[in-house]
Amino acid sequence: METFGQEKIQKALLRILKKSNFGHAVIFFGHDEFAAAALAEWFGQMLLCEERAQLEPCGVCQNCQNRFKTPAVVFPQLDLLSNGSGIDAVRELKSKMALKNLTDSNRVIFLKNIHNFKAAAANALLKILEEPGEKVYFVMTANSLRNVLPTISSRAMHLVVQSVPRKVMSAELAKRGLKKSDIELALELFPGQLAKAVNFFKNEANIEQIKADYRLATDLLKAPNRKRFAETERLLKKQESGTQREQVRRLLELVLIRLRQEAKYNNFLQALLKAFRDLKTNANPKQIFESLLIQLP
Ligand SMILES: [Zn+2]
Repeated sequence: METFGQEKIQKALLRILKKSNFGHAVIFFGHDEFAAAALAEWFGQMLLCEERAQLEPCGVCQNCQNRFKTPAVVFPQLDLLSNGSGIDAVRELKSKMALKNLTDSNRVIFLKNIHNFKAAAANALLKILEEPGEKVYFVMTANSLRNVLPTISSRAMHLVVQSVPRKVMSAELAKRGLKKSDIELALELFPGQLAKAVNFFKNEANIEQIKADYRLATDLLKAPNRKRFAETERLLKKQESGTQREQVRRLLELVLIRLRQEAKYNNFLQALLKAFRDLKTNANPKQIFESLLIQLP
């Protein structure tokens, strides 16, 4: 099963499974949506597999056979709810779970993009999570833990999905028909984020414009001040203010991406974000600001 360079987490999870000290819920979150979904799929299948000797499900036990041959909807050991699922789907799941598990095998419930569940559905899910029943496991994905209801996240093990390695990412993008120059741009704009890169090239209408802006943003950061102003003058002079606003917004985003690629700026950005978070706690505000000043690049 393709997991986009997540072997380290897979090995750790396999050790946990072998020791049988896995609770009953896990949330995969972080860098890349594709990798999170793939890991969830892999882990769900590992929970169902009766063998589990290797890093891959065996493919021959009864559950593996069922899973790979039968669509999930008719495979009784497996349920899937995603961000579109409302409270009715959760209620249906609840009544299904009340039925006795006839096969004595594990039962897996995938909860995809748990951060997008509406409050009513999430609260109904919570009731199920609180009393899951024997051999019932919840495998969830989320974009960030901060967007998940704390009452749900506190009942699960948290696993940060690693960024997709460069090599894996360029191979995947090539498989999807991207040109070499586009792959290079994708690797710069979305390092380690395969899903974002794929969606960008699928949906973005102004790719040529963005490429030009990105080159400009890169040049501007390197250029001396006089050249920066001359370039900006040339670029924005003839445009009306609405277009200017849009282009400046995009340039700001690209400058941010460029800054993130440079360690010293990226470290400072992280420190800045941390300062915002610290400010919400009881920490000393003067100290927060002073420690930030020390880290100014
Ligand atoms: Zn198996």
